[in-house]
Amino acid sequence: MKLPICYYGNLILRKKCTPIESITKEHHILVKNMIETMDQHDGIGIAAPQIGESIRLFVLRRYIIKSEEEWDVSDPIVYINPVILNHSKEVNSSEEGCLSIPGIKLMVQRPSKITVRSMRLDGSIVEEDLEGINARVVMHENDHINGVLFIDRISKKDIKKVELRLNALKKKTLSSLK
Ligand SMILES: [Zn+2]
Repeated sequence: MKLPICYYGNLILRKKCTPIESITKEHHILVKNMIETMDQHDGIGIAAPQIGESIRLFVLRRYIIKSEEEWDVSDPIVYINPVILNHSKEVNSSEEGCLSIPGIKLMVQRPSKITVRSMRLDGSIVEEDLEGINARVVMHENDHINGVLFIDRISKKDIKKVELRLNALKKKTLSSLK
């Protein structure tokens, strides 16, 4: 089932999400629906607050880089209660977008490499080292469960360029919630 997306201006996107204490059947259903929603919007990741659930969970697909112009994506991977244990001092910049902020893409600087520990839907704990785009997607989604959006991580100068569109989106969201 495709779920409605919460857009910029919806305060749920600004809340720090709560940890999941035990994985239930409802979480399995939620994840299935989140994957459907992500895929129908051509997203590479989606976090629970983006569909109105303030819990520490996100889903993403990993890029499998084959060559400079060729890549594939993995099966969906579920992150529950993730913790970024380490991040490199080295940073890089790349363009990001967000299902909750449609039509706006901006360069965002983030650490190049991270180590992340999280739980999968089967309860197993996984620790992984990620770099490049795959580290970036995890950091973007992890920001969501802390109430942070990618537009918070760019310079004031760059924000100025999209300010009008952001304000218009916020206004539209707020009027749809009334
Ligand atoms: Zn996002």
